[in-house]
Amino acid sequence: MVKYMIPVNRPLLGAEEKEAVLKVLDSGILTNKEGKGPMVSEFEKKFAAYVKVKHAIAMNSGTAALHAALLALDLKHDEEVIIPSFTFIATASMILHVGAKPVFVDIDPDIYTISPHEVKKVLTSKTKAIIPVHLYGHPADLDPLKEFAADQNLVIIEDACQAHGATYKRQQVGSIGDLACFSFYPSKNMTTGEGGMLTTNDDEIAEKIRMIINHGEKGAYQTVRLGHNFRMPEISAAIGSVQIDKLPQFLARRRKNVQQLSTLIGQNPYIQLPIVKDWATHSWYLFTIRIPQNPGNLSRDAFIEKMRAAGIGTAVYYKPPLHLIPYFKKLFNFQGGEFPETEKATREVVSLPVHPGVTDEEITYIGKKVNEILK
Ligand SMILES: *Cc1c(COP(=O)(O)O)cnc(C)c1O
Repeated sequence: MVKYMIPVNRPLLGAEEKEAVLKVLDSGILTNKEGKGPMVSEFEKKFAAYVKVKHAIAMNSGTAALHAALLALDLKHDEEVIIPSFTFIATASMILHVGAKPVFVDIDPDIYTISPHEVKKVLTSKTKAIIPVHLYGHPADLDPLKEFAADQNLVIIEDACQAHGATYKRQQVGSIGDLACFSFYPSKNMTTGEGGMLTTNDDEIAEKIRMIINHGEKGAYQTVRLGHNFRMPEISAAIGSVQIDKLPQFLARRRKNVQQLSTLIGQNPYIQLPIVKDWATHSWYLFTIRIPQNPGNLSRDAFIEKMRAAGIGTAVYYKPPLHLIPYFKKLFNFQGGEFPETEKATREVVSLPVHPGVTDEEITYIGKKVNEILK
C-alpha cells in the first residue's frame, strides 16, 4: 500500500504561476537571448531589489551560477578554492570544471558552515577564492572570512543556493561576498523548475558573467571569451517572478513551522535542536536536528526508518561528505578522519519537513511521532 508521505521539501505553485507561464506561451518570446526576454529582466530586477544588490543575473541552474562565478575569476590551472566538505556536490565539482583545485576544510559544528579558523590553516600561494556555503539556510560566519580574504587578496563566492532570504548581521545573504549563487531547484525555498541566479555589486564581474552565460558574446557573433549557454528560459523566469513575490510569505510559514515543531520536541533529551546565531536569520531550507550517538539510544538511522514508516519524509543532508564521495576520495586520496566535525555531523544530523506546505496538524503529528520514537 502506498501511503502519503509528508515530503521534506516540495514546491508550492498556484494559479499565479500557471497564468504567468501561459502568458509567456501566448507572447511567443521564449528566451532572453540578446537581453530581449521581458520575464528574465523582470525577475532579475525583482531579485536584485530583494537581495539589495546592483546586479542579479538569471541562469538555468544553481550549478551554472557557480560555474559562471568561477569562470569569471579566470583561475589558472591548479589554483585553489577553499570550500567546506559538508555541502552539495556542485560546490566542489564546478571548481574542477574550471581546472582549479577544491581544498576541503571542516565546519563549525554549531551551524554546519565553513570554519573560518580552518580556512586560515590551508592558505597557500595558490589560494584564490573561498566559497562559504550557507548550509541548510543558516549563513556562514562571513565577517572573519571577509577580513581574511581582504588581507590575502581572495575572492568570496557565497553559495546561497539554500539561503534565499537568510540574513547575516541584518544584511541579505548574496549581497555580502564578491559574488553569490542561488538555486531555484524544486526543493529550494523558491523555484523556477530548474534555475539559478548570480548576484554581485561589481559592474565588471556582472559584465563578464553576462558574456559567460551567452557564449562569451559582447554583441551578436562577437565572442571575446569562451562561454556557455547558461541562459534562463522565459517560462522559468515567469514562474520565478511570481515566486519571489511569495518568498516572504513562504519564509514566514517555514519560521512558524520551525517554532511550533521546536516547542513540541525541544524538551526531548535525545535530540539537539538547530542552533541559530544571534547575528543570523535562518531561511529554514532544512530543519536539521542532531541525534547524538549514545549506547542504548535508538540510532539515527533507525529513527529515520520509523519516521518514514509513519509517513514523515525524513532525510540526511549530506552523507557522505564530499571528501568521502567516491570520486573525490579517490582523486585526493582521502582516507576518512580528515574532517572530524563534518564526519560526526554526517552521523548525527537528520532533517524534518517544515516547508510552507506543512500544515499545523502535520507539525503536531511530526512532533508527536518524534517524541514517541525517541523515548
Ligand atoms: C541546490 C544546490 C546547488 C545546485 O543548484 P542546482 O540548481 O541544483 O544546480 C549548489 N549548492 C548547494 C549548496 C545547493 O544546495
